[in-house]
Amino acid sequence: MADVLDEARENVLGAGRGLAEPDVLAILELHDDRLSEVLALAHEVRMRWCGPEVEVEGIVSVKTGGCPEDCHFCSQSGVFSSPVRAAWLDIDSLVAAAVETAATGATEFCIVAAVRGPDERLMRQMREGVAAIKAAVDINVAASLGMLDQAQVNELADMGVHRYNHNLETARSYFAQVVTTHTWQERWDTLRMVSDAGMEVCCGGIVGMGETVAQRAEFAAQLAQLQPDEVPLNFLNPRPGTPFGELPVMDSADALRTVAAFRLALPRTILRYAGGREITLGDLGTRDGLLGGVNAVIVGNYLTTLGRPASADIELLDELSMPIKALSATL
Ligand code: SF4
Repeated sequence: MADVLDEARENVLGAGRGLAEPDVLAILELHDDRLSEVLALAHEVRMRWCGPEVEVEGIVSVKTGGCPEDCHFCSQSGVFSSPVRAAWLDIDSLVAAAVETAATGATEFCIVAAVRGPDERLMRQMREGVAAIKAAVDINVAASLGMLDQAQVNELADMGVHRYNHNLETARSYFAQVVTTHTWQERWDTLRMVSDAGMEVCCGGIVGMGETVAQRAEFAAQLAQLQPDEVPLNFLNPRPGTPFGELPVMDSADALRTVAAFRLALPRTILRYAGGREITLGDLGTRDGLLGGVNAVIVGNYLTTLGRPASADIELLDELSMPIKALSATL
């Protein structure tokens, strides 16, 4: 049988075609002694099909905690005894966060809310907030507000929200073990509407939630079918008080294999390191991922957990001779 890395070299690196599910699974099952080989190939693929630039993004939470949904990994759910309590951010603070984010060199500023979907109050805040940010600073505004109806999709597109984040979180076959208050299909439907409205689609998920390796490959294939512009890849950071709070932290070699496998499934996508990388991989893992297929990072703090300081990531990019993607290149 042909070696899966030889096949990947020919099809993914050579022709820019993402690996199909069985080959993604074969990558995920590679022995540890081939990890550096697969990371090196994923890096070559990223450099060839995406280039050396790294997209830097900041995120801010406009409404934190108290979400009615029961995503088992999430400390912002109001259903569990998690420490995060509901809180809203005002427009001035939102603009200040956007200005601070732009000062790091970031080109993306994503406004996030812990909700099932936006209500009229949140849409009003978005209207005011996006206009105020655009008046104050040059930065792309993205949003992550849960499930949308068609009118909300249209309105966000009209406001100039250029990218919408909505994660499928995990493979379709595992979703019911992670969330019971809505379905994978409902998430998929929102993503389709977002794409049809001309907004960029940002869709990823979390690995290390108890899914099988085969389900990780299934998830990569489902993302490839969606063709998102960006895939944020999170590793479970087990939060106390959530149903997944007692799960073990993902093995670091598994985490890096997943990074490489997702890059080989999605050669042209912006693959972003999102939450959980510090606890799973430590500082070294950030470097390994950036040399293993990742081409985007979130700077500063995540929504409910502390990340690395922005300056640490910016210095690392400089050291790796990876330029920060410029705003003009994304408009
Ligand atoms: S992941 Fe989103 S929808 Fe699910 S509980 Fe957390 S904030 Fe709510």
